[in-house]
Amino acid sequence: MKRYQMLIGGNWVDSVSGQTRELRDPANGEIVATVPEASREDARAAIDAARAAFDRGPWRKTTALERGKLLFKLAEALTKEADALARLEVQSCGKPLAEAQFDVADAANCFEFYGGLATKIAGETMNVPANSLSFVVREPLGVCGQIIPWNYPLLMAAWKLGPALAAGNTCVLKPSELTPLTALELGRILTEVGFPPGVVNIITGPGAGAGEELAESPRVDKVAFTGGTVTGRKILHASASNLKKVTLELGGKNPNIVFADADFEAAVDGALFGAFANQGEVCSAGSRLLVERSIHDRLVAGMVEKIPRVKVGHGLDPATKMGPLVSAAHREKVESYIRIGVEEGARLVCGGKRPADPALAGGHFLEPTIFVDVKPSMRIAREEIFGPVLAVLPFDTEEEAIALANDTEYGLAAAVWTKNLTRAHRVIRELRAGITWVNTYHPTFNEMPWGGYKQSGTGRELGLYGIEAYLETKQVNINLDEAPLGWY
Ligand code: NAD
Repeated sequence: MKRYQMLIGGNWVDSVSGQTRELRDPANGEIVATVPEASREDARAAIDAARAAFDRGPWRKTTALERGKLLFKLAEALTKEADALARLEVQSCGKPLAEAQFDVADAANCFEFYGGLATKIAGETMNVPANSLSFVVREPLGVCGQIIPWNYPLLMAAWKLGPALAAGNTCVLKPSELTPLTALELGRILTEVGFPPGVVNIITGPGAGAGEELAESPRVDKVAFTGGTVTGRKILHASASNLKKVTLELGGKNPNIVFADADFEAAVDGALFGAFANQGEVCSAGSRLLVERSIHDRLVAGMVEKIPRVKVGHGLDPATKMGPLVSAAHREKVESYIRIGVEEGARLVCGGKRPADPALAGGHFLEPTIFVDVKPSMRIAREEIFGPVLAVLPFDTEEEAIALANDTEYGLAAAVWTKNLTRAHRVIRELRAGITWVNTYHPTFNEMPWGGYKQSGTGRELGLYGIEAYLETKQVNINLDEAPLGWY
């Protein structure tokens, strides 16, 4: 068992209170590590360090080229340690190794993307109605508090740090208290490749106290949050203290729409992958499957036939396609939704219980679960379950599919399966969601903006849009007239 410390001002430290938290492998309950349990005091120390590195330290004065090169080095160093990081990620949050390997590679690509973008941050010159040289410069925001969830611990850290560092900000990153280990390893690696002390600070602790301090502190210029919508609302309120800039990446109840003319096998695969990748613990999971009535029964039968291939097990077992849920409490929450679904009158066609295999009894496992006869008003069709539970709803017309898809307070992701190109365009145009797919589900690209409509969040991460969220805009006007103004 490894004993981790937090990264504050370039030093590895315990929490001020001395309290620690034990982290266990969600697949078997074995202790993996202990981490400091940060409180408000630790958050304040981390903010101080980030403030000093921004206000007085070298970071703001580094050239974009230097920052870019450091980000390239970070990407390279991450790639060198990819295997160990992926294994640690599996032990932290449960996901299958192949998915964790993908996450680590994606995180390295994210740093590389923003390393390249660092030198492309540019202002503009405007022709104004005066004898003035008028131009716009882009500057970093300052100290960024970055709060992330447990489902993609390393990748979410990369999405936050990559653009913030490329733009010249300093950061206090607070990973989820459940899964902070790969973020701490990332802290070690970025220190080793030469990021100066205080530029990135990483505190491990709960939302209550440590997280709240980041959201409330008037000494933090921006808070970037990924997590639940209820927490997002609290962050928004807290950030009003100093009107800090806010980006929120929140939940979803995403429609995956299959028309009768879709490629049948591809749609079956896509429906399963959309629902059960990463145990369904994905904000963009295709957790509402809307199926044209004429193929509804056949598609459901096709999924049920394939469900044994979603093999449940320890993420490090190469045969595993679905790992345990992140915690006992989270599994109970997901199970409570399964009970609610049954009580509401939906019909289980597979799953709904813990696996019978005694070898899995020590972990938070749940079988992949599919409900049919789901009505749009049911809670399992409306609320984010954030686990391996798929609700299937039939529709008769394109208009009905669109209305059902948009009948949600969320607007993160949506997908359409059809061979009819004009229909695909027509439907995508109507969907109120920030991330959309045609004939696929889940691919994400560092080059493309990520974020939601409606209550799925505000702002965008990734791509060129992602760096915008970490930049201030300053206008400069240089008077080219030498004579006095002569107004008075
Ligand atoms: P959560 O909201 O419980 O916690 C997220 C983070 O916020 C954690 O680090 C937590 O410690 C911290 N936190 C909690 N309360 C806080 C407070 N009052 N002040 C400051 N920080 C606080 O979410 P979770 O359970 O970790 O993650 C699951 C949720 O995240 C789901 O709703 C999911 O949809 C969402 N999510 C969204 C995206 C996206 O990109 N839109 C990506 C991944 C996860």
